[in-house]
Amino acid sequence: MYRFSRSIYRELAPDILEDKPGHWGPSNHERVLRACEAAVYRLATDWHYFAKPTKTLFNDIRIYFPMCSQERVYVVVDRYMSFAKEYFSSLPMTGYDVEGNRIECRATTRRGTRCQRTPLPQNGYCPSHQHLAEPEEMPLAA
Ligand SMILES: [Zn+2]
Repeated sequence: MYRFSRSIYRELAPDILEDKPGHWGPSNHERVLRACEAAVYRLATDWHYFAKPTKTLFNDIRIYFPMCSQERVYVVVDRYMSFAKEYFSSLPMTGYDVEGNRIECRATTRRGTRCQRTPLPQNGYCPSHQHLAEPEEMPLAA
C-alpha cells in the first residue's frame, strides 16, 4: 500500500523547500514522506472515518513547499488520495482490513454491543444496518 505514498512523494519531491541552515531533526523531505505514509495508512485502515483525506494531507505538508507550488501540491495530493481511496474501498470483502484486523459493522445493536457482521465496503454498515448509513453514502439505486 506504500506505493501510493511513494508515488505522491516522488511527484512532490522536486518542489520541497530546502532545510533551513542549522536545521536539526528530520529533513523536510522526510517529513513529507512520513506525512504521505501516515495519510495513506489511515486511508487503508480507516477510510470510512477519514472524511477529507486530500485536505488533511495537504494541510500537513503545505508548509514544506513554496507559495508558488501550493496549487500543484494540492492537485497531486488530491489525485493520489482519490485514487487510493477508490482502491482501498474497492478491495474484495474479506472481513479483514489490510492490517489483518477484523472489520465489523459500524452499528451498535439494541443490546448496546457492536454489531459483528461484515460490513459492505461502500459505507461500513452490514446489509441489515444500511438504513443507518449517511444519505450521501447510500449505494446508488440501479
Ligand atoms: Zn450491522
